This record gives sequence, structure tokens and C-alpha cells, in this order.
Amino acid sequence: MKSIQDIRIRFVGAGNMAASLMGGLINKGMTASQMTASDPGQNQRDYIERQFQILTFGDNNAHFGMPDIVIIAVKPQIMKQVLQDVASSIRRTHPLVISVAAGITTDQMAQWLGLDLPIVRAMPNTPALIGQGAIGMFANQLVTKEQLLMTEQVMDAVGTSIWVTEEGNIDAVTALSGSGPAYFFMFMQYLQQAGQKLGLSETNAALLAKKTAIGSALLAERSPESLQQLKDRVTSPNGTTAAALESFTENNIEQVIEQALNAANDRSIALS
Ligand code: NAD
Repeated sequence: MKSIQDIRIRFVGAGNMAASLMGGLINKGMTASQMTASDPGQNQRDYIERQFQILTFGDNNAHFGMPDIVIIAVKPQIMKQVLQDVASSIRRTHPLVISVAAGITTDQMAQWLGLDLPIVRAMPNTPALIGQGAIGMFANQLVTKEQLLMTEQVMDAVGTSIWVTEEGNIDAVTALSGSGPAYFFMFMQYLQQAGQKLGLSETNAALLAKKTAIGSALLAERSPESLQQLKDRVTSPNGTTAAALESFTENNIEQVIEQALNAANDRSIALS
């Protein structure tokens, strides 16, 4: 099996997500010479060359080489056009193709590439930009054991990844972790606003809301206790937390969250 020092990667699209992966991979011990990238944006290419010393090209097929992995990191709307553009290089070199685009199925990708290939569909989220992503992945039948492990190595560079065995479950991943950062930002925003209404300054309320979220998340990650147990630990009978939790329950927070995830799941299905 190839170690991280031996894998060659071609990025097609070198925007935010590609740059996060490049930075994470370099931190993990890859060298710039193991990667190349193509992107029509001159500013983006200049940034990638300056930041990571990775060779970039304006043409998706230029200096394609023999990559082990091609990571397609373009917006879903242009996926078809981009895959048809690089199809000849991919058909010639037979790499593992990893797409991070939402809503595009592995069958659609194979059709646009004009070939049945090993394809992984990965759904990262924005904390991947700081190496703290939660990533759900699906591999089609043609992905080998070695390619599964290579994919894990790549995705571990920007966060923590899990596999789903049904492609349809990527919609649930999208609803939970793909869109999830927005839910937590919204919750923090409302905590801040409510704290301000109780008399705290904007700065103090914002700091307390964010630090409470970070502290709770780290505690949940590091503690052996379940989320329920951790919640119970903060909640003494008739105490302040109990009062707040009772209010949440009276307002059906569980149902509100379930409905929101169903809405995101339905939208993800409709978009694919
Ligand atoms: P981005 O806009 O930063 O990057 C996309 C890049 O594609 C741009 O640099 C653009 O110049 C380039 N591009 C445009 N046309 C091209 C072409 N014909 N050939 C090659 N490159 C081309 O977007 P992003 O945030 O990096 O998102 C990329 C993909 O990752 C999207 O499909 C998005 O849904 C997915 N994604 C991103 C995140 C995230 O956290 N940013 C999370 C989940 C999924």
C-alpha cells in the first residue's frame, strides 16, 4: 500500500476546498512535487503556487502526468463540463477519482467521464478549512482496498472521515455534517443575542457563546460519557439548566431539529 509520501495527486479546481486539502496534506508530510493542480483562475493559481509551491496550470489536461488520485473540487453546476473536459486524461491514466461536489452521483460522474472508474464521493464541511472537518464518503464498487485506504489518508488531512455503504446515505451526511456547521453557528448566534438581551455586551456575549460551544464540543469528544450523561451532569434538579432545558422541551426542540434535518435531506435528494 502506498504511503502518503508516494501518492501523486492532481487537483482539478483549486479553490477553498482544494487549498484546505493541499495545506493539510503538506502538514501530513506530502511534498509539493507530489501534487499538481489546474484552475482557470489566474489569481487562484498564483495563490496556490505562492502558498504551497504546487505547480498549477490553466488547462485541466496540461501536465496531467500519472496521478494515483484526481480530486475534482469544482462547483456542482460545472461538474459535467469539467469531467467531460478531463475525460481523455482520466481515461488514459485510470486514477481513483474523488469528488467533493455535493449532489453529483458516482453514476453521473462515470457517465460524464465515459468510463466505469473507481470513484469516491466525499462530503466534507467548512471546518475542513481549518483541519477540523467531518467527512462522509461513499466508494463505488470499483474502488480497491488500497484506494479506500489512500482516500482515508487524504481526508484525514482535513478532518475525521467515515464511510457510508449506501450512496443514498450521503444525503443524510449532507443534512447532518455538511450543513451542520450552519446549525451550530445559528445556535451560537441566538445564544449571543439572548445573552445581550439579558444585559451582556455584544463582545462578552459573543465570546461566551463561542467558548461554550468549543468547550462543550471538546468535552463531548474527550469524555467517555454519552451526550445524555454529559447533559445530565450540567443539570441539577430545579436548577438553572433544568429551567432552560424544560423550556426547550416545551418548545419541541427535538422535533424542530428532526424536521430541519429532514428538510436538508429532502433538498439534497432533490438536487442530485
Ligand atoms: P471554490 O469556488 O473556492 O473553488 C472552485 C474552484 O473551481 C475555483 O477556484 C474556480 O476557479 C475553479 N474552476 C472553475 N471552473 C473550472 C474549470 N472549468 N476547471 C477547473 N477548475 C475550475 O469552491 P470550494 O468551496 O472549494 O468548493 C469546491 C467543491 O467542494 C464544491 O463542489 C463544493 O460543493 C464542495 N464542498 C465545499 C465545501 C467547503 O467547505 N468549501 C464543503 C463541502 C463541499
